[in-house]
Amino acid sequence: MYCKTCGTASKTIASKISRRAQSGITKCNRLECGHAWHVETPLGAPGMDDAETATSCGCGEITTVNALLVEGRRLSADTTAFGDESFQAWSIRVLEALDGVPAESGEASLVRTATNAAKSQTSSTAKKIVDLNKLLVRAITAVT
Ligand SMILES: [Zn+2]
Ligand SMILES: [Zn+2]
Repeated sequence: MYCKTCGTASKTIASKISRRAQSGITKCNRLECGHAWHVETPLGAPGMDDAETATSCGCGEITTVNALLVEGRRLSADTTAFGDESFQAWSIRVLEALDGVPAESGEASLVRTATNAAKSQTSSTAKKIVDLNKLLVRAITAVT
C-alpha cells in the first residue's frame, strides 16, 4: 500500500485486524519500509482508498521493531553517511528487540541468527544492516 511517511508504495509484510466494530473493521498493515498503517473498512463500503483513510499505527507489540526497521532502512539507504558507531548502537538495540521473538517453527531463534549476522567477520557493515533488516521483517511477521 501507499506509505504516507515515505511518500511511496511499500509492500505489506503482514496485516491483522486490530479493531472490529459495528461500523466496520480496522486492519493494521505492516509495511516493508518499517511503517504501519491502520486502515478502516466501513461495513458496506468496500473499495475505499486505503491511503485516504490510513492512520498511523500504535500497536504496542511492534512499535519498537518498527522504529528499528525504519532506522535500518535509513542506514542501508545511505551507507556513507553513518559511522560504524551508529551501526553498533543500532545493532545492539536490534538484538535486544529480537530477544524473545519466536522464530518460525524449526528455525534458529531470531536473536541467535541476528547475533551471528551482526558479529560476522566476513560481512561488510552494509551487508549486516541488510541481514538485520530482514530479521526485523521476520520479527514483525512473527508477532502479527
Ligand atoms: Zn514507510
Ligand atoms: Zn497497528
